[in-house]
Amino acid sequence: MTSREPALSVVVPIYNEESVLPLLVERLRPVLDGLGEPYEVVAVDDGSTDATPVLLVGMRRGWPQLRIVRLRRNSGHQAALIAGLFRARGSYVASIDADLQDPPEVLVEMLRLARDGGLDIVYGVRGDRSTDTTFKRSTAGIYYRVVRRLVGNAVPAQAGDFRLLSRATVEALRELPERRPVLRLVVPWLGFPSGEVSYVREPRAAGSTKYSLSRMFRLATDSITSFSGAPLRAATWLGAGGMLLCLVMVVFAVVMYFRDSTVTGWASLYVAVLFLGAVQLLCLGLLGEYIARIYAAVQGRPSYFVGSDTADLVEEAVPVTEVPPQPGEVPVRGPEVPVLATEAPRVVR
Ligand code: UDP
Ligand code: MG
Repeated sequence: MTSREPALSVVVPIYNEESVLPLLVERLRPVLDGLGEPYEVVAVDDGSTDATPVLLVGMRRGWPQLRIVRLRRNSGHQAALIAGLFRARGSYVASIDADLQDPPEVLVEMLRLARDGGLDIVYGVRGDRSTDTTFKRSTAGIYYRVVRRLVGNAVPAQAGDFRLLSRATVEALRELPERRPVLRLVVPWLGFPSGEVSYVREPRAAGSTKYSLSRMFRLATDSITSFSGAPLRAATWLGAGGMLLCLVMVVFAVVMYFRDSTVTGWASLYVAVLFLGAVQLLCLGLLGEYIARIYAAVQGRPSYFVGSDTADLVEEAVPVTEVPPQPGEVPVRGPEVPVLATEAPRVVR
């Protein structure tokens, strides 16, 4: 193994986590140092606007294994994770949230299980979520039930983005043409041998959640529409059911007409119009979700932009001053000062 290939890369997506970062380093570093093997921590700064970038640079001074990948703009948890995964160089690549809800100590167990069992994927499964809010637990419960039904039972229940992947799995992910894969569904779908490590979900160490309700909703719709056409088929069945109901209503209307009692029925008419309108809008919305996915795929825009990566820093000796030689003089050159030159920002998907 060369020094460019650490045994383990740990990807940490970070967005405005200034209060949690010192605590993270305090707990993560001893665990990784204790491995006794080369490792790197890929801290993906997802366009933080607080002191996170400054803190990270300061931490890197005393922790050379810390690598900082800065995204140009806030791109969301999944995009930040993918940016880190695709840039990581380790033989195994783990991902962990910055807020210490996933205990770093479990990483050692994951690595051991993967190696001993010849596994490509080890999921961190939340055995106990009692520290999460009731709302979070119940919405997560519904989410896992729905996706397991739609995508299949290969998706482990209660496994978020705390997991360990082999290099082969990361390469397989990279080959997928999808720009915005939902990792917790795509990873099991790849079909690699996998195992699980159960852990207790801890409360957030500091700061507040960065997952707003709308982001949770986005993740849920992305999860469903990226993996299943079932909602579209449900729309067809809803349409078929609606038609049947209409037929019954037609028969009812004809009977009422011949009985000369067509003036009444305002309420049923009102309800029917509202019901059909709502069903139509719902089906249109469903169609819209899929069209939006096709639209995004056709546009082919990257889901994130890497502004800088400390691993791209190359130390080069660049002559900074050059004094033109005077007649009869030996050329004099200014001091050669090593300058840290970064690559020009590249567009990376
Ligand atoms: N995060 C990110 N970009 C975002 C939102 C969140 O990189 O736009 C990171 C965040 O810093 C944390 C992880 O994703 O490390 C999970 O976020 P959070 O803990 O807020 O989510 P929750 O645990 O509440 O679902
Ligand atoms: Mg969290």
